Amino acid sequence: MYNEKVLDHLSNPRNAGEIPDADGIGHAGNPVDGDSITIYIKVKEGIIDDIKFKTFGCGAAIAASSMLTVLAKGKAIEEALKITNEQVAEALGGLPPHKINCSNIAADALHAAIADYRSKIKFTFLR
Ligand SMILES: [Zn+2]
Repeated sequence: MYNEKVLDHLSNPRNAGEIPDADGIGHAGNPVDGDSITIYIKVKEGIIDDIKFKTFGCGAAIAASSMLTVLAKGKAIEEALKITNEQVAEALGGLPPHKINCSNIAADALHAAIADYRSKIKFTFLR
């Protein structure tokens, strides 16, 4: 049911894990089958220097998280904000139609992590 690219990310997920001192943490969930994605980012001079994911859920959610980290790593914050859920699914060579809800939260989690990072910056600035 999954193509080879998806299976590759499933058997060998890229950037899996946590960043204990992350600059931003974002979370997104898919109520349909209970997938949960958390994205951790480390930002250096406006660039996503490191990114990791922790995902509980089905294969599509894990493969999408893995692909998302590959797409976002090394990108400027502004560019990373432009990554869409559609791009993640496309980069994976497509997902089964009934699994699209699962991959559709990966970019949301990244955008939430960037928002979290930005809110912390503002806080530091105001102090
Ligand atoms: Zn799922």
